[in-house]
Amino acid sequence: MAMGIETIFLIINVLLISYLLLLWGSLDKVNIWDVLKEPALYIQPFKISLTTIPLAIFIPWVYVSVIYFFCGIIGLFLGVSSNGFYTLLTTAFAVPLIIFATRYYQSTFKTLCKVCNGKGKVDGYNEYLEIHFNHGDCFCCKGKGTIHAKDEINKTHDLLLENLLKEEEAIKKVEVLEKEQEELSQNIERKNIDGTVKNNLEGILSKINSQIEFEQAAKNFYRTAVEKLMILLYNKHLAEYILGKTKEFDEIEEQNISTYADTESKKYQLSDTEIVDKIEALVQEIALRQNLSIVQELQKELETSTEKLQIK
Ligand SMILES: [Zn+2]
Repeated sequence: MAMGIETIFLIINVLLISYLLLLWGSLDKVNIWDVLKEPALYIQPFKISLTTIPLAIFIPWVYVSVIYFFCGIIGLFLGVSSNGFYTLLTTAFAVPLIIFATRYYQSTFKTLCKVCNGKGKVDGYNEYLEIHFNHGDCFCCKGKGTIHAKDEINKTHDLLLENLLKEEEAIKKVEVLEKEQEELSQNIERKNIDGTVKNNLEGILSKINSQIEFEQAAKNFYRTAVEKLMILLYNKHLAEYILGKTKEFDEIEEQNISTYADTESKKYQLSDTEIVDKIEALVQEIALRQNLSIVQELQKELETSTEKLQIK
């Protein structure tokens, strides 16, 4: 017997639900609805958890039974033939797949907001801004939890993400190097160490030391870049908030305010874009030239060019 189209859809549904449950198990504190809402943000090949295997086996068949049950009821109610019943089943299994595919496609244009980690709310102390937040809407994604490729701040956010990752990377490298440095120093200080071996070890140690210096300088650079980008996002949010509130409370002066909002936002956009472009160019330069004095130079350049950028 040839496999009916409804059976093929059924199998795809079962496999997809199983996969999503396995994936969900591997995600830390993520709601399953968030995964269904923005699948592309969470789906990573081979990222699955073994702890949700029982669910991944059990739930899809519950789902299939429920669909069969409801199609049966609807079929009886409408008095359809067996062919009609299969059409109902095909539709019932195809619709979720179409919805899922659409959601997946739409979410490929989005990124999880790095400032709030997709939660939409900011809480606690932000070490870059030195501001304490109390569960307010995220100043970066405005509470949405995601940034769309079309959003005005998308480039700033992308750059923020890149610099945060690089800062983290540099911190890890410093940690590893420092451990190596400590072990080597202990080895060199041994009493009975051979002269040539000692010389060789000292040579390696000095190379490790300069590598540490470089990674630390790089870390400082990325940290400054993150700080400046956060300030930029925060100021933008603040300016928009103030303009919004001014409009709300002072409708009489509508005319004046809209002119003010216009010039003010133009002023922001111009300086924002310039700063973002500058940081982007500097980050690219560092990636190309892995050299301590150049990183220190670029750090100075970054500081001078963003000097005027302070939290408002
Ligand atoms: Zn956010």
